Amino acid sequence: MIAICNVCESALSVSLYESLGTASITTMNQMIEGTTEVRFCSHCGHVQTSELPSLVEYYANEYEINATSDEEDQLYKVVDGRKVYRAEHQASVLMSKISFRDGLRVLDYGCAKSATLKKVLTRHSGIKPFLFDVTDRYVPFWERFPQDVQWSTHTPNPDWFGTMDVVLSFYALEHVSDLTQALLNVKRLLKTGGIFYFLVPNMYHNVADFVVADHVNHFSASSLAYLLQRHGFGEIEVDEQIHDAAFVVKARFIGEGAGMDTPDGDALARLREEALHIAQYWNTFAARVKEYEGMVGDGAMAIYGAGFYGNFISTLLMFPERISCFVDQNEYLRGKRIMSKPIVAPQDIPDEVSHVLVGLNPVIAKSVIGQIEQWQGKSLEFFYL
Ligand SMILES: [Zn+2]
Repeated sequence: MIAICNVCESALSVSLYESLGTASITTMNQMIEGTTEVRFCSHCGHVQTSELPSLVEYYANEYEINATSDEEDQLYKVVDGRKVYRAEHQASVLMSKISFRDGLRVLDYGCAKSATLKKVLTRHSGIKPFLFDVTDRYVPFWERFPQDVQWSTHTPNPDWFGTMDVVLSFYALEHVSDLTQALLNVKRLLKTGGIFYFLVPNMYHNVADFVVADHVNHFSASSLAYLLQRHGFGEIEVDEQIHDAAFVVKARFIGEGAGMDTPDGDALARLREEALHIAQYWNTFAARVKEYEGMVGDGAMAIYGAGFYGNFISTLLMFPERISCFVDQNEYLRGKRIMSKPIVAPQDIPDEVSHVLVGLNPVIAKSVIGQIEQWQGKSLEFFYL
């Protein structure tokens, strides 16, 4: 079957990358059946992963992020020793990009707990919040919002059509293969002149995104612009700097007559080159983990990072019994386990551990480890991938 680009509908060429074996790993660090194949679109600069049939069951049963408590969140970054969680950073970026005057109608589309909008409301209590998700499972969180919110589940309330000033979406479009339908849904909710504001991962800044099986879209600035122009949006802003490893995108719904640009050949060639480079990183990843294990011998090891990289490393080990623990600074992971090993804070790493496999985005790994004060002067060997 010919693969078609989700953004521009061109036929896609042969795959850049295929995962090893018959299992693929997801955002929730679950293994699912199937081989992921990743392709590049030489028309719009999009990168795309084939959608696995087993994803249907995965979304129905397992896809649930940070749904243990109101506060549970992913650690975004440690800045000068202070932990900044993701919703807090997303809210401050959003408030720097949109001026939230009283009466503004703001819909969080596919909102889960809507942690970001909830934080914005503590600063701008005069805006009118609306929440939508395809499932009922987050309703108990919405009921605890500090002010009145309107929500609907499964399908958006038709009374909302054409009335929204702002539609927000955080980390959703990377999961959606039918982008045309997704954009139609957003446009139907917006007023003409309304703003669509969204975040999607930037795999060029965090290569993990390339191999996550449930991320079918890996956008570039050019494929984002193409997608939005194609669906009647203008005044497109794509910010690659303000949020680590994400594209923060803002565009105005103009309707018919929004212009179309196509990316130039040089830009496309550069994107393709970068995508090939990322494919190469993952093609050799498993071999590098195994080689290091062989070098360590019988010493006890820890894996730093309980996120995607750490979990992925743990699936590749020849001797998983040599892992004493996982180490992570996210306080919401205390008491949890991976492969039945505890997730501990850096200061609680057992004395027996001599080697640490660093499971972090390679762009930031050395600086994150270098900033762990509790490990200064300890004789630990680190392996960076
Ligand atoms: Zn395309």
